[in-house]
Parts: sequence; structure tokens; C-alpha cells
Amino acid sequence: MAKKAKRKQGLLVVVSGPSGVGKSTVVRRLLKADKNVLLSISATTRPPRPGEAHGEHYFFITQHEFDKRVKNNEFLEWAKVHNYYYGTPLSSLKEQLAKGKTIVCEVDVQGAAAIKNFVEERRLRAAAVFIFLIPPSVDILAFRLKKRKTEDEEVVNYRLRAAIAELQVMEKYDYIVVNDKVESAADKISAIINVEKERTLLN
Ligand code: ADP
Ligand code: 5GP
Repeated sequence: MAKKAKRKQGLLVVVSGPSGVGKSTVVRRLLKADKNVLLSISATTRPPRPGEAHGEHYFFITQHEFDKRVKNNEFLEWAKVHNYYYGTPLSSLKEQLAKGKTIVCEVDVQGAAAIKNFVEERRLRAAAVFIFLIPPSVDILAFRLKKRKTEDEEVVNYRLRAAIAELQVMEKYDYIVVNDKVESAADKISAIINVEKERTLLN
């Protein structure tokens, strides 16, 4: 008997992992290499770092505006991460997924767990894949956090302690990718996306 054609639906790619592991660097590389992959742009109360642009890296908003959006259920998930608030806007994500697009959410481990619940409760019509990025070693992670020079030493040490705790949750993910070289980590994620699209007959 002929199989019924499956409805075209989007793929949600959740990339998570400890702070400083290289999530934004690798995701940016992936977006550059594959123009069919879109980025979910989060809202945050964190002030922009040098070089970050509103609407490109984040939507930089006030605490008042953030609270209003939480109250209006405008976020798929939101979390306080290292003193600032971050949230994934829901409506644009739903729109892109309904069009059959592949969209990447780069979130902390709390965000990934919340998205997993959301998907499991079938509140989102899309397939989702959860990818955990890990550093080649804890020493390398410490080095990268320091190299970024965006936080002072106390914050770096705090983030490093949190990162070591966060590494414990990795078995809950579908894939674990080691961020050894940016290009090869992005290539591995690209391969995962391609295989997941095949598996679920997505476009
Ligand atoms: P995250 O988004 O996970 O907090 P970032 O993407 O900001 O991490 O990366 C933290 C630091 O590590 C940055 O200075 C970045 O340039 C560097 N970095 C990321 N990936 C690599 C890599 N594969 N090799 C060397 N440095 C890296
Ligand atoms: P940063 O301030 O370094 O850009 O991000 C800090 C942490 O917040 C990172 O682990 C990043 O992945 C995470 N993050 C960014 N956007 C979101 C979001 O919308 N939701 C959640 N839960 N975490 C986010």
C-alpha cells in the first residue's frame, strides 16, 4: 500500500551546552555555511557586548518589557541565566516552523529542558532535535571563557563552576558534539540536521 505523503513541517534544532563552550560561535558558522537554516533570535535584558546588534544577536530589551512579554506568554521558554533574563520568542518561531523551515535555538540547559517539555506536550507542531555542545576539556573551557574577555574574573569562575555542573545533563540530549574546531563542530551539526530531515521526511 502506498504511504500517505507526510505533511511538510519544520525542524527545530536546539543547541545547548555550558556558557563559553562556543555555542554562538559554532551556530554563527553553521548559519553562514547553510542559508536554509534560520536563527531564533532571543530577547534579553543583558546589555549588548561590543559588536552586538539589536535584532541580529539578540533583541535587547528592558526588564519592564521582558516582564510584560512573560506575562503575555510571548516566550516559548525563558530563564534567568547568570544574572540576566533570556527568552525565546514564540510567534516568529511558530511561523517559520509552519513554513517548513529549519530553525536553530541557542539556549542554556534550562531553556533546552523547557523546550523539550513544550515539544513533548505537543504544543509545537514540529520535530525537534537536541544537541549538546561540549568542550574538548574543562581546561579548554576555562581558557575560552577567559579569552572572550566579556566578564570579569569572578564571573568567569562562577560560570565555570556552573558549566561543570551543567555537563552532567548531557545524556538527556539526542546528540553530543565536541567543539574542538569551530568548522568541524558546525559541520557535525549540519550533518545531524541533514540526517534528521531525512528521518522525519522534512524539507
Ligand atoms: P557560548 O555562546 O557557548 O557562551 P562563545 O561562542 O561566546 O560561547 O565562545 C566563547 C569563546 O570561545 C569565544 O571567545 C570564542 O571565540 C571561543 N571559541 C568558541 N569555539 C571555539 C573553538 N572551537 N576553538 C577555539 N575557540 C573557540
Ligand atoms: P550570553 O550572555 O553569553 O549571550 O548568553 C548566556 C547564556 O544564555 C548562553 O548559555 C546562551 O545560550 C543562553 N541563552 C541565550 N538566549 C537564550 C534564551 O532565549 N533562553 C535561554 N534559556 N537561554 C538563552
